[in-house]
Amino acid sequence: MPTEPRPVSLQVRELSKSFYGVPAVDGVGFDLVGGEIHGLLGENGAGKSTLCSMLAGLYRPDSGHILLDGEELHLRSPDDAAAHGIGMVYQHFRLVDSFTVAENIVLGHRAPGSARASGRRARRELDERVAQLADDYGLEVHPTAPVWQLSVGERQRVEILKQLYRGARILILDEPTAVLAPHESDRLFEAVRRMVETGHAVVLVSHKMQEILGHTDRVTVLRSGRNVGEGATDTLTPAMLATMMFGGTHVPDDDIAHEPNEPGEPVLVVDGLRVAGDHGRAAVDGVTVTVRRHEIVGVAGVAGNGQRELHEAIAGLRPFSDGSITIDGHECSRTSPRQRHEAGLAYVPEDRLGTGLAPGLTIEHNIALRSFARRPHSRAGWLNTRAIEATSSRLVADFDVRGARPGMPVSFMSGGNLQKAILARELTEHHEVLVAAAPTRGLDIAAAAAVRTQLRAERDGGRGVLLFSEDLAEVLELSDVVVVMFKGRVVGTFDRAGADPERIGLLMSGALDGSDGSSSAGDTGIA
Ligand code: ADP
Ligand code: MG
Repeated sequence: MPTEPRPVSLQVRELSKSFYGVPAVDGVGFDLVGGEIHGLLGENGAGKSTLCSMLAGLYRPDSGHILLDGEELHLRSPDDAAAHGIGMVYQHFRLVDSFTVAENIVLGHRAPGSARASGRRARRELDERVAQLADDYGLEVHPTAPVWQLSVGERQRVEILKQLYRGARILILDEPTAVLAPHESDRLFEAVRRMVETGHAVVLVSHKMQEILGHTDRVTVLRSGRNVGEGATDTLTPAMLATMMFGGTHVPDDDIAHEPNEPGEPVLVVDGLRVAGDHGRAAVDGVTVTVRRHEIVGVAGVAGNGQRELHEAIAGLRPFSDGSITIDGHECSRTSPRQRHEAGLAYVPEDRLGTGLAPGLTIEHNIALRSFARRPHSRAGWLNTRAIEATSSRLVADFDVRGARPGMPVSFMSGGNLQKAILARELTEHHEVLVAAAPTRGLDIAAAAAVRTQLRAERDGGRGVLLFSEDLAEVLELSDVVVVMFKGRVVGTFDRAGADPERIGLLMSGALDGSDGSSSAGDTGIA
C-alpha cells in the first residue's frame, strides 16, 4: 500500500449555506488531516450532510473558505472535488445497477455506454485491479457481480472503492452505518482504520454518539448548523457530547405558563407491542404507551429506533406479532386501517406523498379521500363534485394551504403545503386521537409553527396526540409526557416538569441504559 509523503490537510473556515433563506450551515469551521478519522456529530437536521456536500462539490457555499493543503478551493462539481482528491459516499448510493462491481468502480464515473469494457483481457485486468484494491482495504466485493444483485452493505463498499480508485485522499462517509447491520459496521470501521493508516483523511458523519466515541480521533459537533464543540475524541465523554448536542435545549416559557390540562381518559392504549423488523430482530420490542385526552405524548428518539414501525403498526399499515392496540375503548389489534380510522384514529404519516396523499389526484380529491363514500360528498354512489369542491376550498382557506390550483395534482405542491393538506383532511374528520409522525419535518419556520399550533389545538380541544419527532426541542416544547425510544424499546418516560434535555439526549444515544431502574428517576411510570 502506498503511503502519503505529506499528510493531506483540509481547513474549513466560516462555511455557510442557506436554503430558501433558512441557514442549514452557519459559519462552520474545522480542520482535517491525513491519518485521522474526524467525526462529524449532530442530531438530525444539524447540517452535517449540507456541510459535507459543500466539501464534495455538490453544493456551492454561500460564503466561507475551503483550503486544501493551504490552497483555497472553489469547487464547481463533484468531479472537480474528485480531481482534488475529495470523495464522498452519500446516504443514497449512486451506482449503475446494470453494471458490474468493477465497471462501477473503474468506469462508473464516465458516461454509461462508452463505459463498458469490451475485450476479454481488458475486462480481466479490470476485475483484477478491483480485487486488489478491495483486498488492500479489506472491503470485500465480487468484481464481476452486477450491482443490482448486491446487498446494501456491498453497494456501500463499491461506493467507497470507487472513491479510493479515483484517488480520493479525503473520504467523506455520510451516515455510513445507518444502512448496516452491526457486524457490517464493525467491518466498515476496520476498513476506515486501514484508510487512515495509509494517509487518507476520513470524515465520519453520524448522529450516534457511541459510534463517534468508539471510532474517531477528533470530533466536531454541530447543532442547528453551527459548531457547538470539538476536541480530541479521547478527551470527550458521552455526557459532554450530550451537553453539546442537546444541553440547554430551550423550552419556551409561554408554553410552560400555559395552564396544564388535566389528562382525561385514555384514547389510545398500546400494550406490549412487538413488531418484527427487516433484519429478523424486533424493530419494536414490547412497547407500552398510553395517550389520554388533553395530552400530547411525544416520542423522542434518533431515527431508526423503531418509531416508524411503531406508528405504522398503530395505523394498521404494518402487522405486529404481540400486544394490543385500543383506540377510544375499541380493541383494534386485528382491524384494517379504515376500521381504526372509524374507531377514532387520525394519522399523519412520515411520507406525505404515498401513504398520506395520492400524488396524482387533485387537492379536492385528496381532501375528500376519507369521505368519498358519505354525504354530502356522495349520494347513492354518485360523487357530488360541487360538495367536494366546497369542502376543499373551505379547508384550503382554513388551513392556509397554498399553491393548489384547480385540477393540479398535489405532487406539484411544496412539502409544507402538502403537510397542511393532510392535517386539514385528518383533523376535520371525526377522531379522538391523532398520531403524527415527523409532522414538521422539512417545513419552513412559518409552516412548522402553524402545524404546532394545530397540535396544541388538538390537545386543548380534548383529544389526545401521539407525536413522533426527531427534533428533541420540538418534542420538549409540545409534549405533556415524553417517551424515549432506543432500539425498539421505551427507555425512559418523563412528565413535562421532569424532562431534562441532557438526560433524554443520553437515553436517545444509548449512552445511558434507561432499563436500569436506578437511572429512571423522574419517570412517571406511564410506559
Ligand atoms: P443533517 O445531515 O445533519 O441531518 P442536513 O444538512 O440534511 O442535516 O439538513 C440541515 C437543514 O437544512 C435541515 O433543516 C434541512 O431541512 C435543510 N435542508 C437540507 N437540504 C436541503 C435542501 N436541499 N433544500 C432545502 N432544505 C434543505
Ligand atoms: Mg444527513
